[in-house]
Amino acid sequence: MNNSNSKIALVTGGAGFIGSNLIDALLAEGATVVCLDSLLTGRASNLAHLGGEPRFDLVEADVIDPLPQSVRRTRFTHIYHLACAASPPHYQADPEHTMLTNVVGTSNALRLAEEKGARLLLTSTSEVYGDPEVHPQTEGYRGWVSCTGPRACYDEGKRAAETLAFDFQRTGRADVRVARIFNTYGPRMRADDGRVVSNVICQALAGDDITIYGDGSQTRSFCYVSDLVDGLKRLMDSDVTDGPVNLGNPDELTVSDLVERVLALTGSDSKLVHLPLPVDDPRRRKPDISRAQALLGWSPKVELQQGLEATAAWFAEDRRAAWKGVAGKPQPSPGTRTLITGVAAE
Ligand code: UDP
Repeated sequence: MNNSNSKIALVTGGAGFIGSNLIDALLAEGATVVCLDSLLTGRASNLAHLGGEPRFDLVEADVIDPLPQSVRRTRFTHIYHLACAASPPHYQADPEHTMLTNVVGTSNALRLAEEKGARLLLTSTSEVYGDPEVHPQTEGYRGWVSCTGPRACYDEGKRAAETLAFDFQRTGRADVRVARIFNTYGPRMRADDGRVVSNVICQALAGDDITIYGDGSQTRSFCYVSDLVDGLKRLMDSDVTDGPVNLGNPDELTVSDLVERVLALTGSDSKLVHLPLPVDDPRRRKPDISRAQALLGWSPKVELQQGLEATAAWFAEDRRAAWKGVAGKPQPSPGTRTLITGVAAE
């Protein structure tokens, strides 16, 4: 596809679930890729298979710190800025760090884009809509977000990140694209991510109680990771600069329905337990993807059943590898931890 051979991409947060899947797709198209990740929630094991790949390097650094010289010296053409803990338990564990990642980290990424003349794609989130009064959510809806609640470090942080991105755009400092990502699932989610898909699949596989927060009538719409990655690449390669673009699967269902589906496909006899609904947990969420359809020619292709089967199979394999111990599990090779080679350095 297109001229990816000349693409030199920085992926911040590239050791995470979405980032590592994106890196695989970029490398498959011939790009050179540097991943910058603090490895706080991302895992080097997600990139272990790239140990011998000459067009790839991992730089272990936090995007809120001054960027390493090796990164500053590289002639990036594209920056995919994904770095931030994204699951509620993880981003709430150190809320100050989450807010700084979104503000200082995004400023660092944008300044790098400005310096290099690189195009930057910011991964924002459906959380900017808060607990939405408009359904489904269009990009024009300004959201109903609490700036003082426990989710604020993430959703207000991402709103601030969008502000920064569009200020850089408006003032001609950087060429930006902004994606608002809705709930995404698939291989390389963490078993301890705390999200409903990973929790329910892992609980079902282990025969543990399934935790439903609240009465399970709240809704979400789940997008399989390969579809999401395709949307991110299309947006980056597009000329859509006039505002954010929702990326998600509009197939909406309740949490209880999701649980039923997972129990059926795993054949699990796990019991259901109801726990309190987290503070500020959105009641409903479903993307309006008209903009992505019209401007990117994008819409998700993977049906929920198919995606859940693939994800459950991956978690089952992950569990088997964990039982076998470290010897049976892919480990990061030294090559994935070195600083960048200088192939693309100025
Ligand atoms: N949820 C649940 N059980 C779990 C984890 C989450 O019922 O074990 C609920 C959660 O309260 C929310 C929905 O599932 O209503 C989606 O939660 P998740 O953390 O996956 O994503 P987000 O809240 O960020 O959309």
